[in-house]
Amino acid sequence: ASVFSAIAQAPEDSILGVTVAFNKDPSPVKVNLGVGAYRTEEGKPLVLNVVRKAEQLLVNDPSRVKEYLPITGLADFNNLSARLIFGAGSLAIQENRVATVQCLSGTGSLRVGSEFLARNYHEKVIYIPQPTWGNHPKVFTISGLVVKYYRYYDPGTRGLNFHGLLEDLSSAPQGAIVLLHACAHNPTGVDPTLEQWEQIRQLMRSKGLLPFFDSAYQGFASGSLDADAQSVRLFVADGGECLAAQSYAKNMGLYGERVGALSIVCKSSDVAVRVESQLKLVIRPMYSNPPIHGASIVATILKNSEMYHEWTIELKAMADRIISMRKQLFDALLQRGTPGDWSHIIKQIGMFTFTGLNSDQVTFMAKEFHIYMTADGRISMAGLSSRTIPHLADAIHAAVT
Ligand code: PMP
Repeated sequence: ASVFSAIAQAPEDSILGVTVAFNKDPSPVKVNLGVGAYRTEEGKPLVLNVVRKAEQLLVNDPSRVKEYLPITGLADFNNLSARLIFGAGSLAIQENRVATVQCLSGTGSLRVGSEFLARNYHEKVIYIPQPTWGNHPKVFTISGLVVKYYRYYDPGTRGLNFHGLLEDLSSAPQGAIVLLHACAHNPTGVDPTLEQWEQIRQLMRSKGLLPFFDSAYQGFASGSLDADAQSVRLFVADGGECLAAQSYAKNMGLYGERVGALSIVCKSSDVAVRVESQLKLVIRPMYSNPPIHGASIVATILKNSEMYHEWTIELKAMADRIISMRKQLFDALLQRGTPGDWSHIIKQIGMFTFTGLNSDQVTFMAKEFHIYMTADGRISMAGLSSRTIPHLADAIHAAVT
């Protein structure tokens, strides 16, 4: 018998498992709205033109070798990533108070940041929104933090439970870590307004709560890289500490390249130096050093003003297509007279719509219409096209009537 014969079958991941079920479905009309990956109007994955260009430049540069990067990754990439999220004129960057390390996309950045905190920060409790991206509680728990939730979403209004959020953060212990989605909250698509962010900032600073921003959608929500970073910049502008995990999966379409960054904003440059030294101790035994290709693509684009500009245009086109899918789906439901208020589809922000469909309705839509989404009723707007929207609207209509 195998020494592994007693091993239990683990459940599929709640998000990636949707794709597993989708792949098994032979129907020609099937639609996968589970995983958050951008698709063109033709339903195809998209490699940005500017990414192709950067790759050409890299391939044709004979000076490029495949040596190991330092533990902290590509220095140019780190500097440019910090500028991208904190703003080119950020005082924290000018004062060398930011420690940035290249990590394995957003997930890896969260993982390294939370293990750093578990080892080096006095408070182990991290508050995360209810609901949140399904991987958050797993990443933070395995890093050694203790996960608690703060109220975030109000199913009644399909909007922000701002009162509950403030109440829960008010009663968090002094110094607790708070995970904040920088923009385009996943799965709800509901973000605080700028005024609400300011109130959250004041409350958190008055209680010494430590902000940990997850920025997986910068530029992807509104189409503007600066607008989508406002929440983070508000916190950095007050001179206090914060962490930020960045991902280039969505905004540069570099999903499988696994390229992201973790920045820790400190109050002085000597602290930032020590923080970086500790980050290296976290990274070295985990994966030694990060991969070179994706970070080189990003650095090539970010440091060339022409390519940067081209990127912003392609990025805005993706954001605009998603916004137009919201409008088309909303109109299709209106047209069908589908019962209920569907205005949240056009109010919500970013890649996902939190439809409000329950798990029975989700199961029904997969079985009868071959439309796949996560059990919480979240659909990826980026996976839709003008061609698939009527089919989805028919399915939602049938599910709720
Ligand atoms: N945070 C959130 C909120 C996300 O939605 C995602 C992607 N689904 C990530 C982090 C990380 O993704 P990746 O590791 O692919 O950058």
